Amino acid sequence: MLADTDTLNTLSDREFAAGYAEMVKYGLIDQPDFFHWLEKNRKSVFAGGTARAEAIARSCEAKAAVVAADERENGARALLNLGHTFGHALERATGYDSARLVHGEGVAIGMVLAHEFSVRMNLASPDDAKRVAAHLREAGLPTTIDDIDGTLPPPDILMDAIGQDKKVKGGKLTFILTHGIGEAFIADDVPTSEVLAFLTEKQTQ
Ligand SMILES: [Zn+2]
Repeated sequence: MLADTDTLNTLSDREFAAGYAEMVKYGLIDQPDFFHWLEKNRKSVFAGGTARAEAIARSCEAKAAVVAADERENGARALLNLGHTFGHALERATGYDSARLVHGEGVAIGMVLAHEFSVRMNLASPDDAKRVAAHLREAGLPTTIDDIDGTLPPPDILMDAIGQDKKVKGGKLTFILTHGIGEAFIADDVPTSEVLAFLTEKQTQ
């Protein structure tokens, strides 16, 4: 977690945006008010100063709350992986080439994909998915697979990359999905066939 304000102030805009994606993640997990606050205060957070300090503090509190919940409810910590399953697969697919994709950018695309996949599974409203994508785009982050420079492997190879990141049991995997902004949940029975169909749609659009 990026928590050192002095370090943050030395980051390039691109690096800061990548860290910002992880802050947005906390809003999307279970802090809808924080997400709405970021929508209103994004420019101030990027400018630095008190808004940035507040965003960092709220992110740290949100993370601590998830970790504390994990002690009562074993496994709650997995929520911190929101956007990371798709994100890690994209990092792997780009050969960890930071000129093409840095971790936080993969997470930004991954969070949008997690929301869009949740819409596809009739779990969340398309409006929420669009709102998440719009906010990340305004923050200068990539939000679609097409935003990545160069060619990417086909969907079945991306799916293999997901399989390397996640345990697949009987054709099902555990994924962080959502019922909407700030309503992420752990789904442990997501059919890999649905994920593959979704990725195929995304890459042929
Ligand atoms: Zn991360």
